[in-house]
Amino acid sequence: MSDLLKGKRGLIMGVANDRSIAWGIAKAMHDAGAELAFTYQGEAFGKRLEPLAAQVGSDFMVDVDVTDDASLDTAFAALSSRWPTIDFLVHAIAFSDKSELTGRILNTSRANFKNSMDISAYSFIEVARRAYPMMKDAGGTLLTLTYQGSTRVVPNYNVMGVAKAALESVTRYLAADLGPEGIRVNAISPGPMKTLAGAAIGGARKTYKFTDNNAPLGSNATLEAVGGTAVYLASDAGAYTTGEIIRVDGGYHVLGMPKAENL
Ligand code: NAD
Repeated sequence: MSDLLKGKRGLIMGVANDRSIAWGIAKAMHDAGAELAFTYQGEAFGKRLEPLAAQVGSDFMVDVDVTDDASLDTAFAALSSRWPTIDFLVHAIAFSDKSELTGRILNTSRANFKNSMDISAYSFIEVARRAYPMMKDAGGTLLTLTYQGSTRVVPNYNVMGVAKAALESVTRYLAADLGPEGIRVNAISPGPMKTLAGAAIGGARKTYKFTDNNAPLGSNATLEAVGGTAVYLASDAGAYTTGEIIRVDGGYHVLGMPKAENL
């Protein structure tokens, strides 16, 4: 436990359960001394979040669907009446119709393309627009989660790869927009992780096993490892890092080929 985030407050968006990447980040941030508020999507996820939030000393939870501007407005109004300022925000949100996270991208429908881009990429802009006025004076950090399917073809990832490419670009543009106000914007790119969203991708188990077997560090990243990177980025230790895509994948991304014994 460190005190890297002592005195800092932030909003965590995207905890669905205790396997969520957002939960790994929340725990690490709490252990580093941060105070946390949460959003959740709908009543069922709210019920699952309640005991988790309590574990990290938080009773601030608000229902947000990022496709619904009114719910975002309500959430940020509630947050700013509780805390006039925040120091960080974690956007760990993505969605695509499961039926299109398999097979060929040729089968992507217009409706699912738009919805996937809206939830998984555009929402970071909607969230940033509401969060940055709460960060202005003392600066702050916006974090999102991406995956290497943005720049390389990963079987079945399809439209989500396109959405992650857009999200990474949004990260860079927001970093340029908000840098002059002392606000840093970064994305963490873990390797495959066993979460609800991860399981929706066709062949998820095989992809997980393949990267786990081949990553130079010997396995896929843990929730704790992703959490540690988020703590660094949100703390003063990360004070001059912005617009970056930070990989937390055990080094898998440097490989041109799998290990000889795995061919
Ligand atoms: P998860 O299922 O635990 O979290 C996804 C979250 O998105 C859920 O809390 C869900 O409620 C939320 N969400 C979806 N649509 C929403 C909407 N309209 N409004 C509000 N919230 C909505 O899965 P996760 O793997 O922890 O995903 C978190 C982030 O990490 C995602 O951006 C995902 O793409 C990214 N990521 C995941 C992996 C992986 O292998 N699991 C790898 C790299 C990046």
